[in-house]
Amino acid sequence: ARRGGGNRYCYYTPELQASAQSRQALAAGLREAIEKEQFEMMYQPIVSLATGEVHKAEALLRWRHPTRGLLEPAEFIPYAEASGMIVRIGDWAFRQAARQAGEWRERIGDGMQVTVNASSAQLRPGIEPSRGWLGFMRELGLAPEAMAIEVKESALQQDANERLRQLREEGMQLLLDDFGTGLSSLSKLTAGGLDYVKIDRTFVSRVEEEGSELALCEAIIAAAHRLGLKVVAEGVETRVQCALLTDAGCDYAQGYLFSPPVPAPELEELARARMLH
Ligand code: C2E
Ligand code: CA
Ligand code: CA
Ligand code: CA
Repeated sequence: ARRGGGNRYCYYTPELQASAQSRQALAAGLREAIEKEQFEMMYQPIVSLATGEVHKAEALLRWRHPTRGLLEPAEFIPYAEASGMIVRIGDWAFRQAARQAGEWRERIGDGMQVTVNASSAQLRPGIEPSRGWLGFMRELGLAPEAMAIEVKESALQQDANERLRQLREEGMQLLLDDFGTGLSSLSKLTAGGLDYVKIDRTFVSRVEEEGSELALCEAIIAAAHRLGLKVVAEGVETRVQCALLTDAGCDYAQGYLFSPPVPAPELEELARARMLH
């Protein structure tokens, strides 16, 4: 797997524009991947800028493809979303992450929280898997606070809101992902029911060069704090970015400066050490 920098989001996902034939192959492959459980979870630390401690980890999906090696989400998630298969895949992802959260709560401590990405298709009314998540956590004996859901703004506009409200009422936390991309407006932060906002990597990557970008981050942080939300900066790659965001009052940071997504045992090691000096 690629670990270094690189503009992961700047290239197209070939599958989406590929021939009908290769789309069919991808569809068949994904169905098989679900049955044979070819998915794996990687975890990326989310670091408290106040203490350097790892309080959270984001669960990020990988597909161990039988012939193509370890595939990143950009290669299959868009297709899984378009085909509806994301519902089952996302359910596997949630359950896997919840099991891991349970293990870490015992081994690392109660402060550890795992965040999972959810697409809006997983949160529609009547979609069974997300209704089962609370029951699954009860079976595990896992406090809902041990889990958090990351959603993009597009999910907040839809009827997912009701589902999210229920999950949150039970104690799960909610993060607004990729804030600042697309048609973002600060008013999205008032949507209600949010606990965290994640400032998108595209802003973070420019705070060093562009004063205007830093000013935007400062404005987002100030608005979020006024509304009672905490802020995570995504894609922090340099010490300078980290220092500027810390000065701007940002609460948490995530990015290659600290660690790329890693397998669970490695995340556990990172969580035992302090990540800022
Ligand atoms: P995301 O939620 O915005 O996740 C953060 C992505 O940024 C991850 O890519 C991560 O590896 C990458 N990243 C982290 N730090 C840095 C950095 O410092 N620099 C750069 N250049 N990149 C960094 P990844 O793992 O390839 O995931 C891509 C997207 O796939 C995620 O974006 C998320 O939208 C989606 N995804 C991943 N897992 C799941 C899942 O279980 N369910 C759903 N529905 N979507 C998922
Ligand atoms: Ca995310
Ligand atoms: Ca994100
Ligand atoms: Ca992003």
